[in-house]
Amino acid sequence: MKDIIVQKFGGTSVADTDKIKNVARAVIKEKNNGNNVVVVVSAMGHTTDVLVKLAKEITPNPSLREMDMLLSTGEGVSIALLAMALQAQGCNAVSMNAMQVGIITEKIHSKARILEIKTEKIQEHLDKGEVVVIAGFQGVTDDFEITTLGRGGSDTSAVALAGALKAKRCDIYTDVEGVYTTDPRIVPRATRLEQISYDEMIELANGGAGVIHPRAVEAATQHNMPVRVRSSFKLDNLGTLILGVDEMELQRPVTGVAADTSRLRVVVCDVIDNPGTAAALFDGLANENISVDMIIQSYARKALNTNDIAFTINKEDLTKTKEVISGLKQELGYSNIYIDDKIAKVSIVGAGMINRPGIAAKMFRTLANIGINIKMISTSEVKISCLVDESKANEAVETLHSVFGLDSDEIAEVKGDLPNV
Ligand code: ASP
Ligand code: MG
Repeated sequence: MKDIIVQKFGGTSVADTDKIKNVARAVIKEKNNGNNVVVVVSAMGHTTDVLVKLAKEITPNPSLREMDMLLSTGEGVSIALLAMALQAQGCNAVSMNAMQVGIITEKIHSKARILEIKTEKIQEHLDKGEVVVIAGFQGVTDDFEITTLGRGGSDTSAVALAGALKAKRCDIYTDVEGVYTTDPRIVPRATRLEQISYDEMIELANGGAGVIHPRAVEAATQHNMPVRVRSSFKLDNLGTLILGVDEMELQRPVTGVAADTSRLRVVVCDVIDNPGTAAALFDGLANENISVDMIIQSYARKALNTNDIAFTINKEDLTKTKEVISGLKQELGYSNIYIDDKIAKVSIVGAGMINRPGIAAKMFRTLANIGINIKMISTSEVKISCLVDESKANEAVETLHSVFGLDSDEIAEVKGDLPNV
């Protein structure tokens, strides 16, 4: 039995027909290594953004079902063109959308999770020696409704397919050469990592490192699937391997630094200090599928029987969040809501920080030394995040990167934009 390799090519790698022909060469190269190849592609270039813009020109609030119908068409174009490019280069290939494969998701439009992937049809084609080109980002419910997995979701499609097919590896081809200690556009002396653990990668991806979608890393963890992030323009470079922490050597306490400016802070002031208020608030948000990141509940003011609850959400969820909170006015009894949208979450990440005291203090001291005020702090086993003013984010990242010894001797070569995840 041949090994299966899943290759995923993002929007920048299939942005025009020349690039699609280049992708076909990368696919054929892998096939010639003696592997069965399944390819997952995103929509061409900025297609998805263009489609979103068209919808917004029709109505500011398009229905999520129709948005999924619309956005899923982008990947339909690229799979067919890539299959044609492969055939034109003499390689048997077939394209398949999520409905044809059976990529079954929850019935949630715009950010569905994959529940199950049927592999029989794919396997039939592989057995005939064909390369199977599959549309990323899209899914189908068990009653044939089209769904999408959320922006950047084709990484997740690829890793989930690799898991279902018991592939040997999933290669995410993109326009950067791998995972860096931080965004090389902010810190040109960022270092490419040869390896990074799943946990660290999830934190870096959540922290704003736009190189791979966080859910894709979750899927990789579940299946224990090795994932390689590599350049579609330098096929001989091996990029960065994402794998289980047990399989790697921990050298430094901090592996990477990231800044995320996609969030805003909501402070609900003078919430009644009774059992159940936080539950009511976060239940309300969860019911609307609003994901909350950092949460701080302040020290209760006993005399007033109130405290403040602050949390961060995605900027695009603001309207819904305000609706949820005002709908709970009775139960929460708050005085007012305060929104801060000029913030950035700066995180240091490292599996090596476990059991090493002083890392947090060093981060806070570094920020203090450059006069940066910390608005919120949160930590996990492998991460420390501080919320700071958006205008200070790059300076914070640069300084932390060098204080934690991550600067490289060389200047990283950066081509174009980082992928849009
Ligand atoms: N085309 C989708 C997007 O732009 C999915 C992806 O590229 O991963 O978000
Ligand atoms: Mg992408």
